[in-house]
Order: sequence, then structure tokens, then C-alpha cells
Amino acid sequence: PARGSEVLRASALTKRFGGLVAVDGIGFALNAGEVVGLIGPNGAGKSTTFNLLTGVLAASGGAVTLLGQPIGGHSARAIAGRGVARTFQHVKLVHGMTVLDNVAIGAHLRGHAGAAHAALLLDRAEEARIFALAWQQLHRVGLAHVAHLVADELSLGQQRLVEIARALCLDPVLLLLDEPAAGLRHLEKAALAKLLDRLRAEGMTILLVEHDMDFVMNLTDRLVVMNFGAELAQGRPREIQANPAVIDAYLGT
Ligand code: ADP
Ligand code: MG
Repeated sequence: PARGSEVLRASALTKRFGGLVAVDGIGFALNAGEVVGLIGPNGAGKSTTFNLLTGVLAASGGAVTLLGQPIGGHSARAIAGRGVARTFQHVKLVHGMTVLDNVAIGAHLRGHAGAAHAALLLDRAEEARIFALAWQQLHRVGLAHVAHLVADELSLGQQRLVEIARALCLDPVLLLLDEPAAGLRHLEKAALAKLLDRLRAEGMTILLVEHDMDFVMNLTDRLVVMNFGAELAQGRPREIQANPAVIDAYLGT
């Protein structure tokens, strides 16, 4: 998509768990080349929102469009196949498997509707394509030199980059990152911020949930703030930092 054009729009998005309204009618748009932060206190509904956008959970109400097409009710696999890639709050790498193989899992998923296809019937050309793509993404995140190490041997910061490389194999139109900087050391955070800046420069659209406010405020173009499932505010980092309601509910604590 052309820089600045709409990639995703959520409208009146709602999720109820029994009597609890975990996501309460929120709406926002993400434009191509933007890095947007989704912030708010624990329990605000951020992860549930990610799960609604990626089809992991079905919404109770509202709509989501991707490049103008409705994706509400589509399966997680279908939405991933259309280029919405994500990483998880808790790193999900396969233990005992090399970094390269962990990234190649993402390449398997690209463009295929069925998981069975990923596991079976790989011809040589397909396998070569997958590993070329995985190498390319490892270079992109600066981890080619550890491609043959077992993923468990890497630092948490490197493991997070492996997850991003795997997500990039989908050739995503939108990248969703759930707390990518959590638990990282200072230098690892700086390396992550540099990578995300570079992806933005390449035109990638990124939505991230993150509690490290220095990281968020320096990196993002715009913020969506949630509290008790609802939208508390939206705006540029400077505006959000000065917003009394946001300070009261979140930033001041
Ligand atoms: P956040 O990621 O902002 O910390 P969550 O989206 O995880 O918040 O949770 C929002 C609210 O929904 C919380 O009150 C949480 O307990 C509740 N919740 C999340 N998932 C479920 C679920 N599967 N069943 C019931 N309640 C849930
Ligand atoms: Mg969460």
C-alpha cells in the first residue's frame, strides 16, 4: 500500500467475556508506514484487541477491515495469509530447533491456506525458496551469524528478533508486536528500536503494545490509549504525555 494510505480500520470493536466487556467499542485506523502504540494499564484490553485483529478471537460486535476489505469473522490462518503478522508477549520459539529453522516456520506459512501443506509435500524448489526467504529475514534483523545456533541459546533480545524475522517471512502488510521490549536490556532495546525504525523507513506498518514509555514515546508516531476496554485517548506521543486523563489512569502510576 502507498505510504499514508489506510491499512487497517477497527470500528466499534467489542469483545464480551460473559458479563465483562474486555474491549468496549474501540475504533482506530492504521496507515501505511506508521508505527502506532497501543497502551494502557494491565487488563485494559490490549491483548484482547490483538486477538480480535488477528482472528484468534471472534468479536462480539464491530468491524475490522484490512486494505478496505472486511476481515471480521475470518480465521487466524486466513488473516495471517492476508499479511497480518504478529509476535507474542511470551516468546514462542520451538525448543531445540535452530534459529534458521524457527524462522523458516514463518516462510512455510506464507501464502498457504493450510497447515498440512506446510508440513507435507515440500518439493526441493519449495524448500530452497523457504530457506532463502528465512536467510533473507535473518539478515534483515541482523542475526545471520547465529542462524545455526539452537534458538534457546540466544539472549531474550535475540529471541525477540528471531520472532520478528519469522513474522517478516509472511511479507506482512501489518506487523503486530506484543510487548517486544519487555525484559530486554538497554542495548537490546536500542537494537530493537533501530530495527523498527528501519522497517518503518521501508514502509512497514506496525502496531505495538508496550509498557516501556521511553521506548514507546521515542518510537511511535501515534498512540491509542485504552482503559477498562474503552478508548481513553488517541494522539501524538507529546499530546498523550500531557493528557490529564491518561496521566491519571496510566502514566502517573
Ligand atoms: P491487557 O492486555 O490490556 O492487559 P487483556 O486484553 O489481556 O488486557 O484483558 C482485558 C480483560 O479481559 C481483563 O479483565 C481480562 O481478565 C479479561 N480477559 C482476557 N481474556 C479473557 C478470557 N479468555 N476470558 C475471560 N476474560 C478474559
Ligand atoms: Mg496483555
